Amino acid sequence: MKLSEKIVVVGGGLAGLSAAARLASKGFAVQLLEKAPKLGGRAITIPLKGFNFNFGAHAIYGRDHSVLRKYESEIGLHVNWKDFSPKKAFYDLGSFTTPMPSTLERLYRTKILDAENKLRLAYDVIKTLSAIERGKEGVLIGDYLKKEPDQVRDFLLTLASSNFFTNEPENIPSPLFFRYYKRLFATHTPVSYIGGGWQSIVDGLAKIISDNGGEIIPKEKAQKLEIEGRKIVAVHGKERVYKADRFIFCIPPKELVALFTDTPYQGLFEEYSRYRPNQVVVYDVGLSERIDSPYTYIYHKGERVFITDISYYDETCTPEGGQLMQAVAYLTQDEIDQDKANEKVSVIESVYDKHYPGWRDKLVAKRLSKRATVQEIKCIEDQRLMPVEFYSLSNAYFAGDWCEGDGQLSELSFSSAYEVTNRILDHKKVLQ
Ligand SMILES: Cc1cc2nc3c(=O)[nH]c(=O)nc-3n(C[C@H](O)[C@H](O)[C@H](O)COP(=O)(O)OP(=O)(O)OC[C@H]3O[C@@H](n4cnc5c(N)ncnc54)[C@H](O)[C@@H]3O)c2cc1C
Repeated sequence: MKLSEKIVVVGGGLAGLSAAARLASKGFAVQLLEKAPKLGGRAITIPLKGFNFNFGAHAIYGRDHSVLRKYESEIGLHVNWKDFSPKKAFYDLGSFTTPMPSTLERLYRTKILDAENKLRLAYDVIKTLSAIERGKEGVLIGDYLKKEPDQVRDFLLTLASSNFFTNEPENIPSPLFFRYYKRLFATHTPVSYIGGGWQSIVDGLAKIISDNGGEIIPKEKAQKLEIEGRKIVAVHGKERVYKADRFIFCIPPKELVALFTDTPYQGLFEEYSRYRPNQVVVYDVGLSERIDSPYTYIYHKGERVFITDISYYDETCTPEGGQLMQAVAYLTQDEIDQDKANEKVSVIESVYDKHYPGWRDKLVAKRLSKRATVQEIKCIEDQRLMPVEFYSLSNAYFAGDWCEGDGQLSELSFSSAYEVTNRILDHKKVLQ
């Protein structure tokens, strides 16, 4: 294979950065274009009054099986894993709190299930792990779980709410649900945070690109394409034209439709640009001093709001002695359509009041986003993720959390990018 093959990557979020870093480290000549001044996309870190707020991603689910592990071993990406403490993760059931059953010992202690249903859940976990339970094509998980006792069904839907970041877990297709949990139940570390914040991953990937001779071009929006037959020949930026052998597009479907406008390929992306994103309300607070609490993670089941004490795991995100917490409220499509985000803000504040009394007096900085896109395509009902490659376009690849891959959220970005780089490395395509 001609290793000096030239690759242009469009989009400098986690997908674009990880694809570019892997290919640069394998000897490809890589150029990465990012329209924003800063790299990272939805995983950027925003400094404010001495606090570092992660705009988007916070946690990695199922670290043992995360593609990030491959980036660590293969290309030397350093990840400062901070595994969450199961002993400090609780459910708030309104009138009392109870351990989140994330380990066997916590399952034994939790009051979210009675003894009989604990056994039933343990049995279901074994069936999921051994792929005896795989769901059924065409059946949503809410319907599929109707055969389960109410407590177990309710628990599994609550779990899916927090892993898929959704207020409508019942609408997840049942095969996807079981595929996801087969992977997650097999891990020893269901949730991990990142020391140094997600900025450290963004910086680490950018450094691997530069150290291997790759070029990163910020403030460069891909605006137009030159196409000959089934091949892309060049991407046009503001002033420069980028020619390459292959192109990886790590920009969301709506941006793809705009970029491919007036080409024969625009229609490929339209279906995916119409699907609904997964949106949440995020309300992060930076406090001047820590408020003692038995929890580092508390999930208010009734309100479907969770709070994580990020600074417990990553001490670099606050000034000395401070505390940074993240709250997320899940939204249904109806809530988004009816603009209910404001109501969620006061709900979140009441959950902070309940578990971190006095937080308002210590508030130094906050970040509120009433409609943050957690995943570009929400995996519910008939919404489908986009393929990483189309047969009709011979030298273009696609990655991002709207593309087919493993896991959900950022794991989809990493895994789709990894798959794309595998395809390029495998040299499955013959350059004309
Ligand atoms: C509030 C919140 C909480 C989250 N929590 C978690 C979590 O706990 N765990 C987790 O795993 N994930 C989480 N996520 C999801 C995670 O942040 C995303 O899945 C991930 O960052 C998406 O990366 P991406 O590269 O696929 O897409 P993006 O980040 O959207 O990257 C696309 C990039 O392309 C650029 N671009 C667009 N058009 C062009 C163009 N024409 N030319 C050049 N550049 C262009 C954009 O500027 C952007 O940088 C969260 C997200 C949010 C918002």
